[in-house]
Amino acid sequence: MNAKLIRRLSAFALLLTALLTLWQFSAAVHAQKTEKVKTAHPPWSADQKAAVKTEASPNNAEYAAKVKENTTEPYFMTELVDHLPASDKIPSPDKILGYTVGAPGHLTYTKDLYRYYRELEKTTPRVRTFVAPEKSEEGKEQLLVAVGDEDSIAKLDHYKTITAKLADPRGITDAEAEQLIGEGKALYWASGSIHSTETGSPEMLMELAYRLAVEETPFIKAIRKNVVVLITPALEVDGRDRMVDTYNYRKANPGKNVPPLVYWGHYVAHDNNRDGLGMALALSRNQMKTFLEYHPTILHDLHESVPFLYTSTGTGPYNAWLDPIVIDEWNLLAYHEIEEMTKRGVPGVWTHGFYDGWAPNYMFYVANGHNSIGRFYETFGNSVADTLDRTVRAESQRDWFRPNPPQPRVKWSLRNNVNMQESAILLAMNFVSNNKDRFLKNFYLKSKRSVAKATNEGPAAWVVPSDQTRVVEAADMVNLLRLMGVEVHTANKEISVKDQKFPAGSYVIRMDQPYSRMADMLLDTQYYNVNDPRPYDDTGWTLGALRNVKTIRVTDKTVLQMPMTLLTRDAKVTGTLSTASSPTAYLINHNAENSLVTLRFKLKDLKIAAAEEPFEAGGQTFNAGTFIIKTSDNSGDLKARLSGPVADSGLKAIAVEKLPELKSHLLAVPRIAILHTWTNTQNDGWFRIEFDRLQVPYSYISDQVIRDTPNLKEKFDVIIFPPVAGSAQSIVSGIPVRGAPIPWKGSDVTPNIGLGPDQSDDIRGGMTLRGVLNLQKFVEDGGVFIPITNCARDFTGLL
Ligand SMILES: [Zn+2]
Repeated sequence: MNAKLIRRLSAFALLLTALLTLWQFSAAVHAQKTEKVKTAHPPWSADQKAAVKTEASPNNAEYAAKVKENTTEPYFMTELVDHLPASDKIPSPDKILGYTVGAPGHLTYTKDLYRYYRELEKTTPRVRTFVAPEKSEEGKEQLLVAVGDEDSIAKLDHYKTITAKLADPRGITDAEAEQLIGEGKALYWASGSIHSTETGSPEMLMELAYRLAVEETPFIKAIRKNVVVLITPALEVDGRDRMVDTYNYRKANPGKNVPPLVYWGHYVAHDNNRDGLGMALALSRNQMKTFLEYHPTILHDLHESVPFLYTSTGTGPYNAWLDPIVIDEWNLLAYHEIEEMTKRGVPGVWTHGFYDGWAPNYMFYVANGHNSIGRFYETFGNSVADTLDRTVRAESQRDWFRPNPPQPRVKWSLRNNVNMQESAILLAMNFVSNNKDRFLKNFYLKSKRSVAKATNEGPAAWVVPSDQTRVVEAADMVNLLRLMGVEVHTANKEISVKDQKFPAGSYVIRMDQPYSRMADMLLDTQYYNVNDPRPYDDTGWTLGALRNVKTIRVTDKTVLQMPMTLLTRDAKVTGTLSTASSPTAYLINHNAENSLVTLRFKLKDLKIAAAEEPFEAGGQTFNAGTFIIKTSDNSGDLKARLSGPVADSGLKAIAVEKLPELKSHLLAVPRIAILHTWTNTQNDGWFRIEFDRLQVPYSYISDQVIRDTPNLKEKFDVIIFPPVAGSAQSIVSGIPVRGAPIPWKGSDVTPNIGLGPDQSDDIRGGMTLRGVLNLQKFVEDGGVFIPITNCARDFTGLL
């Protein structure tokens, strides 16, 4: 059976190339004088605290009473959030939603989050909403909200121009920068719920926006003065709505099994924040594009896992390509929050001992990788909006970085979570406002030092030579860099530097540009010190190696003097079709480009053979696997049928009048299925993304289809089983068949579940042994079963 599998596998080598690539991957000026900042600390004496209260606008006593009621202990509260100002014309969240933020029993759908922000926008000049560039994979809007004083919001475009100028110091002098820093605003961007089971931040952010817009305490006024707060209400829009669905199902079906959050976004689950290198998800691209539009000073990603509030610095080793200033900024902000929260008597606010800071695969690298500050919180979240008795394990241990640890047992509420997040982020925003010039100056300095990189630490440039095998993949790689704001040039003529020559048309990524660090980070080789602690995430990610694209690190600075042209649009390789007076065949060399598979499926009605050995024809050499499209095998105007798809593919189809004798076989157009379980769908999502991108058609089937289809070969030629965690037994058995059925399907209570990639009346049970036998028969019938990683290990044993 193994031999059969191996023989069949060879027919799908190019498909695997695509899979491997994927797997490794988942792997403007208005003169307004700003007053000089006076103090680096927010008010905090009894007198100052009293001053906060007396200067405050009238408060909504009823709201404050609810907040108090929903907080389990007085020390999970601060004076920053124990009240909410009242307003006759601007609605607080409860006026629109019908409940106070953090009230038990309520998680808010994105449509209602957006409804609230749009009501705020209608009623106050201090709030504006924008829609992110791309819709979610399931067609939903992602919102961006800006909150600041009236003047800042009215002149937001102007302030964006200032941060854009500071982001690219090549166009300004230090004196101009100084003036821009004085005039500019710091942009503090809070991003909610990228992780759908971490449900508190979308609730908290509504109250934060209201408070920032309405409250007239000196503390909040100080924030509005120097900071524009940007809010992404919920980053993973599809996942947020499905999470609210499952919670509502729980409430509507007491005592019944609740569906786990099988699908978050359309494709992936928790690893949606590990898409910072691939930018395969709409949410990643939206963050990147939004960053490049606003150049926020800080991007703050809100997570919920460890108690009670972990504020990020990481343990190191730190990413070696970052300007070390940002490491200091992480610490500066974290320790300010810890000190201020601790002064207020709040336990369990700490830093350091969680996550390292090495890999740039995280979403917040849209900031860290671009000379800004990327940071995150982990607060304690219950996932559901119910108050629960919780046990704290390792984090209740006192340590040098956690001198005031969380208690080992705690009654925890959604409102506690809201209090922690909102208090701490307000402290950070106030600190940034009070130190606005300092943060903007650091941003400018980091940007400047990135431009100086070429002549300081180097290299001078990275070159992606034009004379390489995978030119389509090379273009795709430089387009990814461009998506990240990296400037890419093409050589106007041959480049000749010390010991190296590169042909005209080669891509040149200069290191004398603002985002040189991001480019160098992605193209360089990583050396993770074996003596360092086990990494939190990936150790290496070199893009050239991952994509099998030749990249050359050039240290000779004369490369920067070579004539080159800036790419102003994405690189595109257009395929060519050569002619012959009476062609016998068109040959497309197998150069392992991913576009070969796209072309084959686009030309599914053509008979295409694959060479089984290298050969020469028409004076050129061709690799084994070369596509042979014979005129005698295919009717009609072959040239006309080929020209469009070949042009799109970036490949070269060469007409030859004579073909040598060679071994070949006809290529199948396999009916492919991607198989998923109902226990874990994340990994198959990464596969689906790449199949969709490469336009390879497939059926998406569950283990229950395997169980219920005795003749799988009748329907499929290839079944791909992406990695699922667990033992063979747990993969085969699936979710235990106990209690009531667990549906994963659209209903009045769960409308968003119906928008996802698959549905079932009952997700329990797995493929069962019957499914295993059906798979065995499928293979015996000549089907190709491709289990991957642990599925391969476990299933080769079973079959
Ligand atoms: Zn998270």
